[in-house]
Amino acid sequence: MMIKRSTFVRNLALGLGAAFAIAACGGSSGPSGSGGDGETGVLRVATEPAFPPFEFQAANGDLEGFDIDLMNAIGEEAGFEVQFESLPFDGIIPALQAGTVDAAISGMTITQERLQTVDFSRPYIKAGLAIAVKEDNTEIQSLEDLEGKRIAVQIGTTGADQAAEVPGAVISTFDSAPLALQELANGNVDAVINDAPVTLDAIASGNISGLKVVGELVTEEFYGIALPKDSDNTQIINDALATIIDNGTYSEIYRKWFGAAPPELPESAF
Ligand code: GLN
Repeated sequence: MMIKRSTFVRNLALGLGAAFAIAACGGSSGPSGSGGDGETGVLRVATEPAFPPFEFQAANGDLEGFDIDLMNAIGEEAGFEVQFESLPFDGIIPALQAGTVDAAISGMTITQERLQTVDFSRPYIKAGLAIAVKEDNTEIQSLEDLEGKRIAVQIGTTGADQAAEVPGAVISTFDSAPLALQELANGNVDAVINDAPVTLDAIASGNISGLKVVGELVTEEFYGIALPKDSDNTQIINDALATIIDNGTYSEIYRKWFGAAPPELPESAF
């Protein structure tokens, strides 16, 4: 089940890429025992846990997902303990700025706009936006077809930014991606613009029914771990990430969630 779903997600969402050079340079392990700013050994990491397969809450309440496994592996490599804190997606950057968390892993796209206020680790996965519509919709096939239509998005996301540029669109905003997709399944909007791997996972897992993804990926985006500007932890996280890409741990985690070998990653998003 997991493999089937994951392969599907990978093929559609992550397999379109050009070839990038793996930049797993060096592989020096991070300093141990002093990850968090001022809080020795503990790194407080924010996440918005309604974004499967990257982060979600299991039935028993535990946080699970690709991002969660990756962050824990980085912590293990660098010698700090990861303490996750659930926050609304649009509260994550303010929390980083206020210093109430040390980092964030939340399927967050590295964008020029966000780089004005926070720093990012090197890219850790490639994703991109996709348009979802009802299964029987034949009218909407591309971004242009969304003109004047009703679009649901998650607040504060790249999908919301993209929707804001569609002429005449009526946009409804939701706190999480699953809620936006449910609005579409309920027939209250014409489309959702959201990260492709997440929309495809929702459809393939049966969490949402009666939807399909149309056309090509609207964008190509890279996720990064966000940190406060000039944090000492950025280098530590980048070093640990390089090491686990190099030593196969990254690949193991990628296979667990996407059922395939990971595509190569660029060293920077732009
Ligand atoms: N990748 C999108 C963004 O960064 C959505 C992230 C999310 O909803 N967790 O805006």
